Amino acid sequence: MFDVDGTLVHRGPDGRGRPQPGAPEVLERIRASGRPLVLFTNGSHVSSERIARGLQEDGLPIGEREVLTPVESAITYLRRYHRDRPVLMFVTEAIRERLQRAGIPAARGEEAGAVFVAHIDQTDFDEMERAARAVRRGAPLLAGSYVPGYAGANGIIFSRGAMVTAAIAKVSGARPKVLGKPSRAAVAELRARLGLPTERLAVIGDDLGMDIRLGQMGGSRTVLVRSGISGQVELHRIPERRRPDAVIDGVAELLEWL
Ligand SMILES: [Mg+2]
Repeated sequence: MFDVDGTLVHRGPDGRGRPQPGAPEVLERIRASGRPLVLFTNGSHVSSERIARGLQEDGLPIGEREVLTPVESAITYLRRYHRDRPVLMFVTEAIRERLQRAGIPAARGEEAGAVFVAHIDQTDFDEMERAARAVRRGAPLLAGSYVPGYAGANGIIFSRGAMVTAAIAKVSGARPKVLGKPSRAAVAELRARLGLPTERLAVIGDDLGMDIRLGQMGGSRTVLVRSGISGQVELHRIPERRRPDAVIDGVAELLEWL
């Protein structure tokens, strides 16, 4: 499993990904060896198929079924634990359609059996209040991600999804359950998509708290790539159990191991 941003690509101000040196070759080499592979990004603004097509255009050899996002783990999670319950969604139009296609019923208001927050650009207080009331009555508060923001071309871009989640959590007193990286739901999604135990998986990413943590939750081998967000982290300063199994400067180094 590869993370995308900071690992396989760096994104420019135009939003296009520039593949990191060796990234296409590494993916081809893994595919040629017969091993399954998957990319897991915490992006939840568009469908995973659309993300895959964008990466193809950027020059990465990736199939539409080879990208996972928190939306995919949310679909699996909702089907498994809250089947047929209407879900109050704080999502983009594209994701609303994706959830609808997956058969997840949308709730209008307080009758919601679950609340799901992903990437969102706009919302209003009435909607958040309905969600908070549903959560107070026992609906789980599910979030694609709950980190404060992500790296943009000009510094941090605050996560509006996290803002909405935090607002609902505050007034309802509920603790959000994260379904993207790192979470049990994401580990379950990896297992389901790859069809093998996550103990047999290598998780490769640039974010210690997100990718390496996800790998450790699933008992996977973990490889930290120093080409992104945790590039400067001093590993001897963090607890041993949180350290990755291996550290590389860029994904091109994986070619020697494959
Ligand atoms: Mg990353």
